[in-house]
Amino acid sequence: MRSAAEKRTWVSVLSSLTEPLLDFIYPPWCVLCNNDLEAEVLVCRTCLETLPRLEQPVLAAEKLTHQLSGPAWFDASIALFPFHESIQKLIHLMKYKGYESLAQPLGRELGLALRDAALVEAAVLAPVPLHRRRLRERGYNQSERLAQHAAAAAGLPMEAALLQRVRYTRPQAKLAKAERSRNLAGAFVVPRPEATAGGVVVLVDDLFTTGHTLNECAKTLKAQGCRQVYCLTLVRV
Ligand SMILES: [Zn+2]
Repeated sequence: MRSAAEKRTWVSVLSSLTEPLLDFIYPPWCVLCNNDLEAEVLVCRTCLETLPRLEQPVLAAEKLTHQLSGPAWFDASIALFPFHESIQKLIHLMKYKGYESLAQPLGRELGLALRDAALVEAAVLAPVPLHRRRLRERGYNQSERLAQHAAAAAGLPMEAALLQRVRYTRPQAKLAKAERSRNLAGAFVVPRPEATAGGVVVLVDDLFTTGHTLNECAKTLKAQGCRQVYCLTLVRV
């Protein structure tokens, strides 16, 4: 048995080691304005609240079909921000620089937007999955983290493995418009269709750019009998 004094020494040694380490991993200042943070994670409330917002967060799929090279399989898109350097920086840090915890404040904003849109009462949130090869390269799926925090803020369930990516695909951005749907055909499966909770699914991703990836996910879900599919993203271009 170690004495209480010995334990206290260990605790103080450990905290002196981990605190500078945590500070190194996550700086205690806002990644956008450099002001000191209080209870916030990585980005301050002021920066989050003053990010330019989309005037119309909810758009019916018909308004977005011009971007897709075929029919829209989802029902509507809900998004928060237009493409802008601040949100671009936050997404870049979250996806590629290991600032995984940015998914917490950003995911919460997504969940609140979903709740305010009042489109769904009972739905399950599902992230756009990464192929396991890309998941290995990146270490985490930022969409899953966003979905997790969005679900908590909206008071809805989240199914991380509702969709599975079974084919490794080339990055969409490098392809011509006509090739994009072909590149994604058959890329996703629904391993347990019974998990789609009454047939309403909210797909979560960081970006709605051309919409091809989200549309392919929606197509896969509708083929499994889902009644409604919504796309919930931080940015819509
Ligand atoms: Zn700030």
